[in-house]
Amino acid sequence: MKGPFGALNYWRRIMKLTKKELDSKLDSIVNCEAFVRALKFKALQHSYSHLNCILIQSQRNNVTYVLPFKKWNALGLSVLKGEKGLAIIVPRFRKVEKSDGTKDDELVGFATGHVFDISQTDAPPDFLIAHLNRDFPGYQNLLELAPVPVVERPLRKGLNGYFDSKELAITISSSQSEADRALTLLHETGHYLVWKNKLEIPQELEEVIVECSAFIAASEFGIDATAPSAGYIAGYLNNTEDLRKASKVIDKISNSLLKTYERSEEFAESNG
Ligand SMILES: [Zn+2]
Repeated sequence: MKGPFGALNYWRRIMKLTKKELDSKLDSIVNCEAFVRALKFKALQHSYSHLNCILIQSQRNNVTYVLPFKKWNALGLSVLKGEKGLAIIVPRFRKVEKSDGTKDDELVGFATGHVFDISQTDAPPDFLIAHLNRDFPGYQNLLELAPVPVVERPLRKGLNGYFDSKELAITISSSQSEADRALTLLHETGHYLVWKNKLEIPQELEEVIVECSAFIAASEFGIDATAPSAGYIAGYLNNTEDLRKASKVIDKISNSLLKTYERSEEFAESNG
């Protein structure tokens, strides 16, 4: 079972459609303005295949933005009672060893997943605009390049993340947008770099230093961090003399951050 045809046959089975019904469903989407909607929809939903975007649209009118149940919860929102999930096709892979000894992913079939449109949740009307403005496609790349393991989970209100020098791990609050998570990751990686370089810095000054460094790195990666960073820095900085003293360390940490995550910068450029 390979390629989009395998996926479509799978789809036909789970939706209990005849071949004719499937064809006419797809036709009606491809041959009308709904297809343009599907394309626009796809532009917002970079994590779903185009086929899945079309399938999602075929199950509900005026779908604008979908996420799995748990992801809505992670954003602090709930799916409304009684709402039915929209089925998507999730490809399943198996690790196979190639003749040259390297490992590769081989498509072995499909499974069904479910997503919910924003209209099926308790999201406030302006939520989507705010959320998408804070979206950052490069976030997954940043995660992969992190120098220590990163755990994402709900944290208490007001705590965006932390670096644990005993466990050697970074924890990030999952109830943030991707851009804010990226910013948190850079910030906590800054703490890791201070720790790794054995820099003796008073705690409050360290906060200023890692936030300034994260701000510099984030700007390089195309994230506008002005608003959150400015508030954060203002909250910790006692006088400009502190900042002057800290500027050398900020250079060092921000350069290390850029080096650590520079492959992600290429990603941001190629996608921007
Ligand atoms: Zn901090």
